[in-house]
Amino acid sequence: MSSICNSGPATAAAPIPLAVPHLAGRELEYLRRCVEGNWVSYAGAFVSELEEMMAAYVGAATGVACTSGTAALHVALLVAGVEPGEEVIVSDLTFIAPVNAIRYCNAYPVFMDADPVYGQMDVEKLSEFLSTQCRATAGGLVNRSSGRRVRAILPVHVLGHPVDLDPVLELARRLELVVVEDATEALGSRYRGARVGSLGDIGCFSFNGNKIITSGGGGMIVTKRADWGRRARHITTQAKVSQEEYEHDEVGYNYRLTNLQAAVGVAQMEQLEGFIARKREISARYNAAFADVAGLQCPREAPWAWSNSWLYTVRVDAERFGMPARALQRWLARNEIQSRPLWGPMHCQVPYQPCQAYRVEVSDRLYQTSLSLPCSSGLSAVDQGRVIDAVKIASRAGGAV
Ligand SMILES: *Cc1c(COP(=O)(O)O)cnc(C)c1O
Repeated sequence: MSSICNSGPATAAAPIPLAVPHLAGRELEYLRRCVEGNWVSYAGAFVSELEEMMAAYVGAATGVACTSGTAALHVALLVAGVEPGEEVIVSDLTFIAPVNAIRYCNAYPVFMDADPVYGQMDVEKLSEFLSTQCRATAGGLVNRSSGRRVRAILPVHVLGHPVDLDPVLELARRLELVVVEDATEALGSRYRGARVGSLGDIGCFSFNGNKIITSGGGGMIVTKRADWGRRARHITTQAKVSQEEYEHDEVGYNYRLTNLQAAVGVAQMEQLEGFIARKREISARYNAAFADVAGLQCPREAPWAWSNSWLYTVRVDAERFGMPARALQRWLARNEIQSRPLWGPMHCQVPYQPCQAYRVEVSDRLYQTSLSLPCSSGLSAVDQGRVIDAVKIASRAGGAV
């Protein structure tokens, strides 16, 4: 095992990145239209077009474009009525953005564990937390240990795979909580046939460079509630009440996407179905190739799920595979193949260590054993073959130790 990891460069081939943007459509044409028409900033036809495209795509009443997915989450929480001092239940195993957004509202996260099979928010533990650790009061549901009101649930559809939403929505309905979906990684993914993002009260997407489509940077709020959509638009535009006068009725933000970014976003949306098909193909080929590799667990789709396969992440059983995930990462790096660990669980992050984590037992293990492999929608068959070969060589070498 150490012999392969410590040897010199194994290949002189070009590096294979983890996941890079795929700008293969009308991006330049639309950008040119912005520049030639002198519509580059917050107002512009591409912003409205992207908002309408996204809302129609996920079946929402309104789309509100934002500067980032994080900004979208911040505003979604404000619109959902999350007040300072309240609590929001959020996935422990996630990129940090939704947790930061909770703190921007001066609310507190309560971390919910990942389920061991799909790595999504564990809905059984969620139900158990709400029934055993909280009590209903005249002022809403209260967390017994903190004394704070629990206001919302923020499930994150991690890696593109949907959370089991029906139980979440049912609990929320019964306990009068709002559901804010973080669908930033899951554009196009389906839960029991319906596209995620508009199944909760309000949902968010991201167009960061590493997401399934990109606008350079950007995000989108979607909601079926037309009044919430109007409020979101208001808050993202400095809460300005009049077209003519500078009058503002609350604290607002400058969170609007520019027309330049939206132009790229529209061109990317036009290619989305193709990207998803490619991602699913890449995932299927990896799954087939790794089926007989001992100690390597491939991602699975839950019975309720149809994933956009945004990121291809395996779990490495160090004993059976012959080396831990981090050693495999180093070996792949020697072969000019980029791979990445998952996010450190939220309850371990410095600013969030004092926050409550409810029976978190699984997310640390998933973090330690997971590794994401190259899966850009533009990944060539030859390059994917190189990744597969490198993983198989590692498994054989590891097995000999
Ligand atoms: C990417 C991402 C976001 C938003 O990211 P931005 O870079 O702000 O667009 C939010 N949540 C999750 C889980 C993400 O992966």
